[in-house]
Amino acid sequence: MAEKVVILGAGESGVGAALLAVKQGYEVWVSDAGAIADHYRQELQAAHIPFEEHKHSYDKIFEADWIIKSPGIAEAAPVMQAVRSKSKRVISEIEWAYRFCNQATIIAITGTNGKTTTTALIHYLLKNSGIQAACVGNIGNSFARQVATSPEPCYVVEVSSFQLDDIETFHPHVAVLLNITEDHLDRYGSMEAYAAAKFRITENQTAEDYFIYCLDDPYTRKFFKKNIHSQLLPFSIMEQVKQGAYMQDQQIHIRIHDDECILSADELSLRGKHNIYNSMAAGIAGKTMNIRNEKIRESLATFKGIEHRLEYVATVRGVEFINDSKATNVNSVWYALECMKKPVILIMGGIDKGNDYEIIRGLVKEKVKAIVCLGKDNRKINEAFKDDVQLMVNTTSMKEAVEAAFHFASPGDVVLLSPGCASFDLFKNYEDRGRQFKQAVKDL
Ligand code: ADP
Repeated sequence: MAEKVVILGAGESGVGAALLAVKQGYEVWVSDAGAIADHYRQELQAAHIPFEEHKHSYDKIFEADWIIKSPGIAEAAPVMQAVRSKSKRVISEIEWAYRFCNQATIIAITGTNGKTTTTALIHYLLKNSGIQAACVGNIGNSFARQVATSPEPCYVVEVSSFQLDDIETFHPHVAVLLNITEDHLDRYGSMEAYAAAKFRITENQTAEDYFIYCLDDPYTRKFFKKNIHSQLLPFSIMEQVKQGAYMQDQQIHIRIHDDECILSADELSLRGKHNIYNSMAAGIAGKTMNIRNEKIRESLATFKGIEHRLEYVATVRGVEFINDSKATNVNSVWYALECMKKPVILIMGGIDKGNDYEIIRGLVKEKVKAIVCLGKDNRKINEAFKDDVQLMVNTTSMKEAVEAAFHFASPGDVVLLSPGCASFDLFKNYEDRGRQFKQAVKDL
């Protein structure tokens, strides 16, 4: 009899995991406590995969041989507590996908910020160099869906800490940890626990593998895991490293063994200090894959960037508009402000996940002319910056926010949407927020 797989959550990861399980001959059942999006429901129906929505039927869940948990389901959710109390075996979607492609080369990227950018950049680098690879995770397919529908010899996988929580054998040949900053503390309780979840990316690595990480990142250093078996390849803007990447006199050096690729920071197509880090990480990953220096340089200089990450939208009557809707925590806003060269009208706000605005106060004082708060409850932002900017207004729709920002701006200024908060109070998600921003700019 076929083993039973129960999948909790029917978003991109859950549905991908279900398709893979069916393909591998398992008996599959999907359970989602909320409503399943129409296109996913239709997909499950088309594949004859039974499911339930708006509830979790524990008796059926407990029948499972394997439980695959979608990353969106919190450990504190009643269903997880029930499952854990029965000592059921739970794995994440990346673990599931990995089990069916463990002969492939896996490059996995984690970190609090920059995952999607760096994943896309590494994928671009590989593609540009003629290496066939799939980019999976946040952009495009879930890992499991890709393995089920279009297997490849190499996967560049964006991995969140939630995905790492329930791995067993997941073993990337190249693991990248970009940074660890305050986020998701609601789920992990402490920075130490959050950092430990991130370091699990190295857990199954051996001496033939590589671990790429940011030497300048305080939490990465503080919680650095002791027993990492892979070859360490740090990157730093502040100090020179023997292996990995560093910057000296605006020149980036990427070095593995005795081979070095050198390029000027000005050549990088992605702007901002954070993107120097992301580019260094991608460049090192490229070198571990034996990509020629010339190709690494060329790729880092021509990558176009991705939607909602410091994305240039338009210039209207001399005012530039930038969409950084994906900035859902204060640290991302810091990096966005850090690379702004013109006076800024900052649109920010939304659902605050325990933000400490103190870290951006200096940059706000220095660069921000006005703050347009966009959220249902803006009190924390009002309070944090009341002494730092002269102009601050509260708005509750994107149209209103963009019009207010445009009103405050003079030619030569930049209007930056970098919310530092989640979007669910007024928008479906950050993509919806970013698209509404772009539309409102077009409508000016
Ligand atoms: P993630 O997938 O980890 O959420 P993204 O690449 O989507 O990361 O970028 C999210 C936000 O973080 C963007 O606003 C971006 O400008 C900012 N960001 C990107 N890379 C970094 C980095 N290395 N450090 C800090 N912030 C970053």
